[in-house]
Amino acid sequence: MDRLSAYDHAICWAFTYKFWSHTTDSDFEMLPFAFPTDPPLPKITSLRSWVKFLVGIEPELYNCCPNSCCCYTGPHEQLQECPYCKEPRFGSDGKPRKKFTYILLILRLEAFTCNQSMATKMKYRSTGHVHEPGKSSDIFNGSNYRNLRREHVEVNGRRFEHRYFEDERDIALGLSTDGFAPFKRRKNTAWPLIIFNYNLPPEIHFNIDNILSLGVIPGPKKPVDVDSFLWPLIKELLRLAAGV
Ligand SMILES: [Zn+2]
Repeated sequence: MDRLSAYDHAICWAFTYKFWSHTTDSDFEMLPFAFPTDPPLPKITSLRSWVKFLVGIEPELYNCCPNSCCCYTGPHEQLQECPYCKEPRFGSDGKPRKKFTYILLILRLEAFTCNQSMATKMKYRSTGHVHEPGKSSDIFNGSNYRNLRREHVEVNGRRFEHRYFEDERDIALGLSTDGFAPFKRRKNTAWPLIIFNYNLPPEIHFNIDNILSLGVIPGPKKPVDVDSFLWPLIKELLRLAAGV
């Protein structure tokens, strides 16, 4: 944050206020009348663009089936119609009928390591947790994690020298997805893809501030091929396992 100007800071605080208070765009645009600033804050569209520029993370957009059966990634990448419901991928105007937005993970994890407070909290996995046989206080007591620590990392058939979670900076992540109905009177469902950062102490790793959203499978139906939506994440996880 030190490299940000005072105006950049003001932009970040204004955007944080809008995000946390759920203020509508029109209400937000009225704020300068009550609380004028010098220089004045930009309009909401410019504010968003500015924050996007400061964050430096561009979301990736993928075409997906209008019924959310699958995402056109990996083996589906070149398909022109959904292999499950046969709906065409593109409309008569040649544009994709629906898109899935994926927010990159590695850039955000790298940002955490640059933040002293966050990086310190994330040392919990390597220095804070103490394994006591027979006691289950965290995922690090689990056999899955403990067995992985004995194994060498393998990616696409290549065996690496390092073992899983051997380096103190390695990050243990958990993936969760479950459907929810955004509208009370409709059957539409949407499926958020979220990541838990288990390197953080157990009392805070499920806090909403610490949960990472990767994107939302838009619905309206339950995805048939969830893996196709996870494809961009899997590519990033393989890169992380090999070492970033
Ligand atoms: Zn479909």
